[in-house]
Amino acid sequence: MSINIKSIEAANRESRLNSITGYTGTVKDLVKKAQCGTLKNRERCFSQASNCSSGCAQGYLSSIVDAAIVNHGAIGCSADVIGETTGLKWGQNIRDWEKTNVKLINTNMTENSTVFGGKNKLREGIREAYRRFNPKAIFITTSCASAIIGDDVKAIADELEEEIKIPVVPVLCEGFRSKIWASGFDSAFHALLTRIVKSPRKKCPELINMIQFSGSGRKYITEILSNLGLVPQFGIPYSTIEQISRMSEAAATISVCGTLGSYFGNGLEQKYGVPYVKTIQPHGIKAMDSWLRELGKVVGKEKEVEDYIVKAKKEIKPELEDIRKKLKGKKAVVGMGPSFSHNYIRVLKELGIEVVWGISWHFDQHYDHGSVPESSIALSNRDKDIPISVCDGQNFEVLNLLNKIKPDLYISRHPGTTVWPTKMGIPSVMVADEYTAFGYRGIINFGYRIIDALENNSLAEELSKRIKFPYNPWWFKQDAFKFLEDEVK
Ligand code: SF4
Repeated sequence: MSINIKSIEAANRESRLNSITGYTGTVKDLVKKAQCGTLKNRERCFSQASNCSSGCAQGYLSSIVDAAIVNHGAIGCSADVIGETTGLKWGQNIRDWEKTNVKLINTNMTENSTVFGGKNKLREGIREAYRRFNPKAIFITTSCASAIIGDDVKAIADELEEEIKIPVVPVLCEGFRSKIWASGFDSAFHALLTRIVKSPRKKCPELINMIQFSGSGRKYITEILSNLGLVPQFGIPYSTIEQISRMSEAAATISVCGTLGSYFGNGLEQKYGVPYVKTIQPHGIKAMDSWLRELGKVVGKEKEVEDYIVKAKKEIKPELEDIRKKLKGKKAVVGMGPSFSHNYIRVLKELGIEVVWGISWHFDQHYDHGSVPESSIALSNRDKDIPISVCDGQNFEVLNLLNKIKPDLYISRHPGTTVWPTKMGIPSVMVADEYTAFGYRGIINFGYRIIDALENNSLAEELSKRIKFPYNPWWFKQDAFKFLEDEVK
């Protein structure tokens, strides 16, 4: 286990999981090299903007219903608040809850604070967050500025915790810590694991922690688990501090995304003995089979799982065959976070679509439980190898590739990389909802969505006639990986 629960901070993914952001090759080569320890990162001598891990930590924690965030940084470090509030309201909307803004205060570090220290601003921010939001806990997210000048965030947190009598928890997630924005999820989960989750008062053998994002699939999961005599406890977004504090009482933890949930799942297993279900994530048919079977094994419900799988597959068979006929022969490129990307390549295959290139925004060489990501192994075990690359959201590489490959379809999970292929005229589907293609019913809905995108592409076609790209013709004639440097030996 690589999680150090005694430390105040989560080690970043580069040092903990040997994660990389630069690679081009094939999925079989990637997995083989990761398994035998010879995979090396390739740096870029040119790169465009990417994401910051602070945003991941902040976004995830800010959807806890009775917590507040104090972002200790320059005002620009809180620019993500717009997207975070939009996301929060989307989740509130699907729950029929009142819409609110995220409860976040930025300490507005200026040149003056970076010279003379930002401690007083931090104290003021924590007191204001407590006064304004009356939270059950306050999380302090750090920034490059507060980390570089060495503000003692822990000391201030301890001091104010004594004063306001609620947990005041540092979340060390400044952007320069890691090139991999998912490191921010680990920082957030580390704070929860070490300061919020409590020792179990009693064990609940029917309770399953379900780690997710917005959670549109709650009803379907509740129905699936009820067939197995189990009850989901969804988290972390839209949970209360009290609910999170009791996640140690569950029979198991399972996640909708390996990149998201593996730190918390493994951490709960390590600290409280709650087993983490280590399997491919539940998008598409084979993955759902595996997800349920592994869960069944962990909680001793194998027979119930097999009965459910037979019934659920029978229900979707005719529609799935019809969708496959319509999508047969289509070629796609996928660009997503690593766990989603390597899972959706398989999902598209199940729908009859050939993935001609897969891009992931980073690659973890192993998870905290030691294994190369299960989704990547499953993909590499297939007969046909797939060309893939790893880039931290570098649109210049993505667009160069798409211009050469000219796929029928581009599937992504982030708006920043979906909008440009759309402007190229390529039918593009953005998978914003983590429950898209979830399980047996989800793959049917996803199939219809793709058919719709392919049949109604006039917006992209019209845009492509009018858009001027930021890249000149020279770039499109170059190798897409021209700026990827050789491996460091
Ligand atoms: S990279 Fe640093 S300065 Fe930029 S938003 Fe993230 S924490 Fe702030």
